[in-house]
Amino acid sequence: MSLVFVISAPSGSGKSTLVEQMLNEDPKLKFSTSYTTRNRTAQDREGFHYNFTSKDAFQRMVANNEFLEWAEVHGNYYGTHRSVLDDANNEGRDLLLDIDVQGARQLKETIPDAVRIFILAPSRGELETRLRRRQRDSDAVIKLRVARAAQEIEGFGDYHYVIVNDDVVTAGNQLRSIIQAERRRSQLTAVRQEVAAILETFKEPA
Ligand code: ADP
Ligand code: 5GP
Repeated sequence: MSLVFVISAPSGSGKSTLVEQMLNEDPKLKFSTSYTTRNRTAQDREGFHYNFTSKDAFQRMVANNEFLEWAEVHGNYYGTHRSVLDDANNEGRDLLLDIDVQGARQLKETIPDAVRIFILAPSRGELETRLRRRQRDSDAVIKLRVARAAQEIEGFGDYHYVIVNDDVVTAGNQLRSIIQAERRRSQLTAVRQEVAAILETFKEPA
């Protein structure tokens, strides 16, 4: 069974940076490619970062109950297709979802075993600086994203882990540790057998 890691963060917190780092170093992690109606940017790779689609097509998929969860974020629709979990299971990989707080809340019901991780920047000022430095969004969009951040951060209680992304190396180490610890926890049956075999060695005559 695949482990499912749900990662949320206010836009600009450094989530994509950290997620990309984990995906690059860990081939057992599979990124959940969402569907979205937002415009594609120069950094977006179609079919990896997102499947870009029209509002009509997205709404047809909602009507067909094709999404595990979906939400409207910053005026666009985003959704996780039901097939992503089967694909990860078939490939024997763990699934990593980059979704917003509304989506994470929906998955709390549908995938209760998912490990939920929240990432945030150390302050509002730093968040705004990062959004501007990224040079991806207009002033109006940046204002919208910062305004929404406080509301998202207030939902941190829905998550198992919180990472403050001040220093990117420290934050990366924390994220990697969480993934490794959760994998070890999920292997308890195998670990029990390992411990039983170790215990047997104590019964051998000295
Ligand atoms: P998100 O995916 O959360 O919207 P990004 O990963 O795109 O955020 O990061 C936003 C900007 O902040 C990028 O320019 C990125 O290089 C930068 N960044 C990420 N983490 C840090 C950090 N710890 N300190 C300074 N800048 C960072
Ligand atoms: P961006 O436009 O910056 O790529 O993403 C905006 C927000 O949408 C981010 O918070 C991201 O986590 C969220 N998002 C991306 N895909 C999904 C999805 O499938 N479902 C939900 N609920 N949110 C998503």
